[in-house]
Amino acid sequence: MQCNLFNPKIRIFPAKGSCFNMETDKLLESARVCLPRAYAPYSGYRVAAALLTTKGEVFNGVNVENASLGLTMCAERVAVAAAVTAGHRQFSRLAVVAEGESPPFPCGACRQVLHEFAPNLQIIVASRDKEYQTFTLPELLPHTFEFNGKK
Ligand SMILES: [Zn+2]
Repeated sequence: MQCNLFNPKIRIFPAKGSCFNMETDKLLESARVCLPRAYAPYSGYRVAAALLTTKGEVFNGVNVENASLGLTMCAERVAVAAAVTAGHRQFSRLAVVAEGESPPFPCGACRQVLHEFAPNLQIIVASRDKEYQTFTLPELLPHTFEFNGKK
């Protein structure tokens, strides 16, 4: 675990007005603990992600901006890269947190990358007010790109 999932100093969830779900609670907390590590000197918009494998391991990612803005890496894809590097390719849930007031929905590129490994992934997005919403990847990306050129 890259981030301290059970840091007793951090008590964020359950969110006001939401149902308590221990797994969601821990996954969101894992992402939120990593939020200060985001490198966002240009936008000031920090994002962190926690990706849960089907074996129960969590991999984190944060956004990593660059002076050449097009080279910026999203937290979701950083988490996918960390998990794949560690040998994991099957995921069940993804939590994404940000400091903004709006839920940090994954961008289109991240949705396509997530589809590569987990077409039915559950995605939880939480904003600064700590409310969260849950979606499935097919809800967020109903028509995916499929490469049919494989032999
Ligand atoms: Zn993205």
